[in-house]
Amino acid sequence: MVVSRAMVLEKFAHPLVEKTFQIGEIPDGHVLVKILASGVCGSDVHIYKGEDPRTPLPIILGHESVGEIVHVSGEKVDVNGEKVSKGDWITWNRGIVCKECYWCTVARQPHLCPNRKVYGINISSKNYPYLRGGYAEHMVLLPETEVLKISKSVDPAVIAFAGCSGATAANIFDSLNKPLYEETVVIQGAGPLGLYSVIFARATGAKRIIVISGSPLRLKLAKEIGADVVLNRHTLNLSERRKRILDLTHGRGADVAIEATGSSAAVVEGLEVLRRGGTYLIAGVAVPQSPIQIKVYEHIVNKGIHIQGIWVSDTTHVIQAVSIAQRYQDTLQKMITHRMPLTKANEALDLMEKREALKVILFPD
Ligand SMILES: [Zn+2]
Ligand SMILES: [Zn+2]
Repeated sequence: MVVSRAMVLEKFAHPLVEKTFQIGEIPDGHVLVKILASGVCGSDVHIYKGEDPRTPLPIILGHESVGEIVHVSGEKVDVNGEKVSKGDWITWNRGIVCKECYWCTVARQPHLCPNRKVYGINISSKNYPYLRGGYAEHMVLLPETEVLKISKSVDPAVIAFAGCSGATAANIFDSLNKPLYEETVVIQGAGPLGLYSVIFARATGAKRIIVISGSPLRLKLAKEIGADVVLNRHTLNLSERRKRILDLTHGRGADVAIEATGSSAAVVEGLEVLRRGGTYLIAGVAVPQSPIQIKVYEHIVNKGIHIQGIWVSDTTHVIQAVSIAQRYQDTLQKMITHRMPLTKANEALDLMEKREALKVILFPD
């Protein structure tokens, strides 16, 4: 019998409630892990407020975690075919897909599976074994979960958020279909997704990385981790920023632009700083928002651009992000502004909402 504390969302926009769960028998094929670290994601704030249409109640939030295996009910191998057992450290794809639908089988775009279940986002804690989210001392992983054994020499806090913003950034660069060599990339937003994109752009050979954000602190960090040019949107207006980008690219504009702000309003600027024939990847807008106005002729058709929406990630991307996280551990540690005990999850959400924190990682006390 395992007794585990968790922070539960019972009512939208009301503080998470600390609850104790008793876990007896672990169902066949499930894996019980002790949480080592769980990230607080920007989307958790939306989920908390009830803005994500997928969320059932009650739910234990947290979809980016690292755990130590306590018990495997049966046999389990990781994505590399390595047997996992008690004491191993693992992370996992936060999403579980059906492997039967059109997207899983024919289109081979499993991250777009309409039946995708996600820990901490759309799996309720209502039914046994309850622990399906990372804001807890333990989690019980479903048999279909794709897990990856990780080294005990890496900071679990860094691996935790590789599972969400890291994997989504990996999906952005995977979608590009061509090398970034000699290309200029504009990244809008310097939260975890934007900064992870800086690391990926650097790792995949971009010639010049330009980051736009309103936070001097985040822009400073963007520079430290590899951005060449940073533009503060509070000190430079839209046309000044556009001019800077055109000046840096012989008047053409960026080859690639990435939306990582989470706001639809940023899309017009993204389209305007892109060169003719460039590619725009929209990755940050993760919940429904008000419509925006774009000029289809000027912004899209006449410029001959590609627009790609980036929705979540698949297991390949998780593996790529974990590999990047191991290589860039020191860089990613700089992004963690707060390490807090699990029981302070409400405070953590508050810090994220006020944008006082860049990345909060929760640890069971
Ligand atoms: Zn997330
Ligand atoms: Zn499917």
